[in-house]
Amino acid sequence: MPDRIFLSPPHRTGRESHYLQEALDSNWIAPVGPFLRRFEEGIEAYTGAPHAVALQSGTAALHLALRLLDVGPGDEVICPTFNFAGCVFPILYQGATPVFVDSGVSTWNICVKELQRTLEDRAAQGRRPKALIVVHLYGQAAKICELVDVASQWNVPVIEDAAEAFGATYEGQALGTFGDLGVYSFNGNKIITTSGGGALVTSRADWAERARKLATQARDDAPHYLHSELGYNYRLSNVSAALGCAQLEAIDDRIARRRAIFTQYQQALADCPGVAFSPELPGTRGIRWLTCLLLDPAQTSATPEGLRQALAADQIEARPLWYPMHRQPVFAAYPYYTTRHISDDLFRRGLCLPSGSALSEADLTRIVTIVRREIKG
Ligand SMILES: *Cc1c(COP(=O)(O)O)cnc(C)c1O
Repeated sequence: MPDRIFLSPPHRTGRESHYLQEALDSNWIAPVGPFLRRFEEGIEAYTGAPHAVALQSGTAALHLALRLLDVGPGDEVICPTFNFAGCVFPILYQGATPVFVDSGVSTWNICVKELQRTLEDRAAQGRRPKALIVVHLYGQAAKICELVDVASQWNVPVIEDAAEAFGATYEGQALGTFGDLGVYSFNGNKIITTSGGGALVTSRADWAERARKLATQARDDAPHYLHSELGYNYRLSNVSAALGCAQLEAIDDRIARRRAIFTQYQQALADCPGVAFSPELPGTRGIRWLTCLLLDPAQTSATPEGLRQALAADQIEARPLWYPMHRQPVFAAYPYYTTRHISDDLFRRGLCLPSGSALSEADLTRIVTIVRREIKG
């Protein structure tokens, strides 16, 4: 049996056990401790975000972002349909309604024109969405400046879901820092990991302070346990943050490696007809969290599912692109705006290839050989 190749497994730096030991020796196993603040400072320094709050997941960070913007029952929140459900569920936690919008071809992320149309149509129905969530999928920047512009014309605050894009930039500025609030994920499959974890970033000190409070059961300042509002147990633990500190030290290497893997796939498949890769907007630098390819049925008889199965037969994990939210049974009741059905087309034609930063040259050759065989026959 050949070794199994996973889509995007964790990649250790070698420093994790050292920091974990330090956390254990200091007995800071209790949730809050020195590594937690150190990890947050590391995120602040790396992204340039004035305030970072480390949390148990990216989903928790999104939930708190919605709470901070006062999203509640009956409110609408706009988000892309080409997305991961973990971005949308928190809207439902708040009893609000997601309004899905289609992608644009140049980024695969939420389309500026479709957003404009959506806001006009919601306004015509007497509705002003309470927030816009922009997602930077696969580590690729959305047209964040234009999106923030459009949203501000309608007075709609912006949450940036950069769960898949930690370390990516737009004209040199970190994704996650353009919106009113930004979200990162450090789940096991993301570019760096705390095993499970996430962060909320903002330039507002009062929001960061309130997020920390809500994340620790909304405890008021009193000697006894006093609570005047609804809270959560969302804070990242000191032990997880110790992992994060080690992982953060390697972020530049991890990004360089993921980008190199993307280029290697591109070069190795350059002569295959009907194969294209995920875009990168000029002026932006993505992290190529996952390398995604698109097959053109007019030029090749190979299909994403056929490719996926051929790879699976050799113990290689590949995955379809995100299945659009407007097609998910759990979100079927919510509005969806599209004119070109881009996300449906991406889903039909796309496949994510193994992209972990620990992928070896031999692994890459194994994968590419099968993909070439399937496409070239
Ligand atoms: C991973 C991810 C999330 C959720 O992050 P978790 O840390 O897994 O909760 C949200 N949005 C997107 C786009 C993601 O990829």
